[in-house]
Amino acid sequence: MSTKDFLEKDYYKALGVAKTAKPAEIKTAYRKLARKYHPDANKGDASAEERFKEISEAYSVLSDEKRRKEYDEARSLFGGGFRVPTGQRPGQGGFGGFDLGDIFNGGADGGGLGDLFGGVFNRGRTNTAQNRARRGTDVETETTLSFSDAIDGTTVALRLTGEGPCPTCHGTGAKAGTVPRMCPSCQGTGQSSRNLGSFGISEPCKECRGRGLVVDDPCPACTGSGRAMSSRTIQARIPAGVTDGARIKLAGKGAPGERGGPAGDLYVRVHVKPHPVFGRSGANLTVTVPVSFAELTLGAEVKVPSHRGAPVTVRIPPGTPNGRTFMVRGKGVRRKDGTTGNMLVTVEVMVPQDLTSKARTAIEDLREATAGQDPREELLARAKES
Ligand SMILES: [Zn+2]
Ligand SMILES: [Zn+2]
Repeated sequence: MSTKDFLEKDYYKALGVAKTAKPAEIKTAYRKLARKYHPDANKGDASAEERFKEISEAYSVLSDEKRRKEYDEARSLFGGGFRVPTGQRPGQGGFGGFDLGDIFNGGADGGGLGDLFGGVFNRGRTNTAQNRARRGTDVETETTLSFSDAIDGTTVALRLTGEGPCPTCHGTGAKAGTVPRMCPSCQGTGQSSRNLGSFGISEPCKECRGRGLVVDDPCPACTGSGRAMSSRTIQARIPAGVTDGARIKLAGKGAPGERGGPAGDLYVRVHVKPHPVFGRSGANLTVTVPVSFAELTLGAEVKVPSHRGAPVTVRIPPGTPNGRTFMVRGKGVRRKDGTTGNMLVTVEVMVPQDLTSKARTAIEDLREATAGQDPREELLARAKES
C-alpha cells in the first residue's frame, strides 16, 4: 500500500461503509462482499476478480487500526477522493495551496514532500499486462480422412488437449474452502517497479509471479498454479477438396482466451488415405486403365470407372501409343468456385501372361507379318549420331 493508493482509493466506499464505521461493521461488510466476489463463485470473471482484490485491499487497511489511522490522516491532509491526474501535467489545477509540481516531482530542491511519494507516481498501474485480456494460444492437431471425405468435405471430431483452468479449484490455485489473497508485495497489480533515476521500470512481481494473488493453501490438483491439462472434443468442418498434407485453419477453435480475450486458432494437418483406384492431382482425378495391344492398335471404346458414378466410355483412336492420357471432362473434384475438375485416364498395355493356343497362333502370325519392321531401327540409328 502506498500513499498514492491512499489518495486514489476510497476504501470505505469499496466496502460500502461509513467513515465512522466500527471494526465489527467493517468485518461484516467485508465478509459479505468477499463471498459475493469470491473467485470460486465467479469463474473467469475478470471484473469480479478485480473487485475481489479491491475489497481485500480495503479490508487489509481498514481492519488494521494503525493503518486505518494512517489512511484517514493521509486522506484528510490531501483531501479525500483526490485522484492523481493521468496524462495531465502535474501542477495544473492545484488544491489547497499546494504546488502539485513540487509534491509529485520532488520540487527544485528534490526533497520535502517529493520524498514522501518516493517516485510511486512513476508506476504504471492499472492496466498491466496481467490484467489485460489475452488471446488464447493457437493449437495444432491432425486428422486422417478417407479419399472420398477429402473430396466431399466432412465433419470430424477432434480431441484437443491443452492447458486450461484447473477444474478442482476453478483456476484460483487455492485449496477448496480457501481463497487466494491479494499479493501484499505488489498490492494485486502483478507488477513491481524499481526506480532508476528518473525512470521507473516495471517487471512482473516476484512474490506472485505477476498474478496479483498469492495462495497460502495450494490446490492439491494443480499445486497452486490454477492451470491444468484438459482435453475436449470439438466438431470441425473440413472443407471439400482438401489434399493430403494440407493445413487447415479453423479460426477461433484454438485455446480459449483469458480475461475475455478471443480464442486462438486451430490448425488441422490433414492426411488423406490413398484410394485403391483413383489418385488426385489438384482438382483432377487420375486413373490408370489397362488396355490390350490390339485395343491401342485398332482403336476401341473402353469402359473406365468414375469416382462414385457410373463407368464412362473412353474412345481410343487406332494407333494410340501406350501411356497416352485422355481427359474426361467434369468427372474430377468439385472446386470451391463450383466448377469441377476432370478425370485423367492413362492407358497402359497389359501383356497377357496366359495365352490360349488360338491367341498364341494369332500373335505368332502377327510377328511373322511384321517381321520386316524392326521397332528399334530408329533408336539404333540415332544412337550413332554425334
Ligand atoms: Zn487447482
Ligand atoms: Zn505480487
